[in-house]
Amino acid sequence: MARCAVLILAGGSGSRVGSDIPKQYLPLGGSPVILRTVTAFLTHPSVDSVRVVIGPDDLARYSSALSAASLPAPVTGGASRQESGLHGLEALEEDAPDYVLIHDAARPFVDRATIDRVISALESHSAVLPAVPVADTLKRGGAVVEATVDRQDLWRAQTPQGFRFAEILAAHRNAVGLELTDDTAVAEHAGMAVALVPGNEDNFKITTREDLDRAERICGRMTGETRIGTGFDVHAFGDGDRVILCGIEIAHHRGLEGHSDADVALHAITDALLGAIAEGDIGSHFPPSDPQWRGVASHVFLEHAAGLIADRDGTIGNIDLTIICEAPKIGPHRDAMRTSLAEILAIDIARISVKATTTEKLGFTGRSEGIAAQAAVTVRLP
Ligand code: MG
Repeated sequence: MARCAVLILAGGSGSRVGSDIPKQYLPLGGSPVILRTVTAFLTHPSVDSVRVVIGPDDLARYSSALSAASLPAPVTGGASRQESGLHGLEALEEDAPDYVLIHDAARPFVDRATIDRVISALESHSAVLPAVPVADTLKRGGAVVEATVDRQDLWRAQTPQGFRFAEILAAHRNAVGLELTDDTAVAEHAGMAVALVPGNEDNFKITTREDLDRAERICGRMTGETRIGTGFDVHAFGDGDRVILCGIEIAHHRGLEGHSDADVALHAITDALLGAIAEGDIGSHFPPSDPQWRGVASHVFLEHAAGLIADRDGTIGNIDLTIICEAPKIGPHRDAMRTSLAEILAIDIARISVKATTTEKLGFTGRSEGIAAQAAVTVRLP
C-alpha cells in the first residue's frame, strides 16, 4: 500500500466572511470548520497522516479548534498559498510519503468518494485534480459583455489535489517566486500531466458569508438523522489459555470457541453498526460456512461495517458495550479495549464506553459456560 499524507492549508486570513476570525476557525454546526475538514481525512482508511499548515498568528486558535484530534505539530505557513504549500511539503520530507493530498481547510465537506477517486488516480498519474464542470454560461466583459466564452472543457478546480510526493516537492522548489494559485498549477508549470477526476458540488470552499450560510444549511441536513443499532453475541468457552475481547488478548484458563478469533465483543459491536444502517448482520457479510474467515482477526469485520457507514458519509456517534461474564475480570483491560476500538474505528475514545457485568452466577454466563456481549451504537447519516 502506498503511504499517503495529507496537508491541510489553513493559512488564509478569511477577510471576506466579515469576521475577525479566519473562516477555517469559525464554528459550523457546532464544530470548527477546520475540525470537520481534518476529521474527513483522519477517518479515511487510505490516509496515513494529516498535517496542518497554519498562519503565523493562529497557533492558539489551531490548538483550541483541534484539541480533540491527535495530530503532529502544525507547520507555519508563508506569505502566499504557494509558499505555505512548500513549507508543508518540506515538513513532510523527513518521513516522505509516496502520495500527498493538498487540501483547503475551508472545504469541510470533502467526501470519501472524492478522496478515493484522487488516491486511485495517483496509481497511474503523477498529479490529480478533482473538478466539477461549469454549468453556467460564461461571459467575458466589463460594463458590457464583450464575448460569450465556450464553457466546453472548462472546469472548476477543487481540492484535495493529489500528487506523487517527490515530484510535487521538486516542482514547488522550482516554482519559488512565481504566483501560482493552486498546487496543480505548480505541477503544470513543471510539465507534469494533471489527471481530472470528478469532484463534488458540496465540496465548495467557504469564502463569503453566503458560503458560510450554505455550509450551515448543509450541516443541518447532515445532522438530520441519527440511527440506533444494537448487537448481541455469545461464544462458548473451550480449550485455550486466552480470550480476545475488543482485539485485546487476555490470559485465561480457557479460550472462546468460534469460527473466527471468537472476539464476542467486536462481533456485538459489528452487528450493532450493521443494524444501524439496516445492512443485515455479521453472518450475512462473513458467512461462517466460508473457510476464508476461519481464524480471522475480528477487527476485519468491524472495519467492514465502519466502511459501509463511511461509504454513506455517515459517522459513528457513540458505542456502548457491555461484556457479560463471571471471568476473566474486564476492569483491568477496559482502557486498553477502548483504545483498541478507537484505533480500529478512528473515532475519539470519549465516544466509546466499555462496561462489564456478571449475571450473579445465574444462567450460562453465571455457570462460566461462555461470554456474552451486547452493544448499542448511534450512527449519524447525512
Ligand atoms: Mg460471534
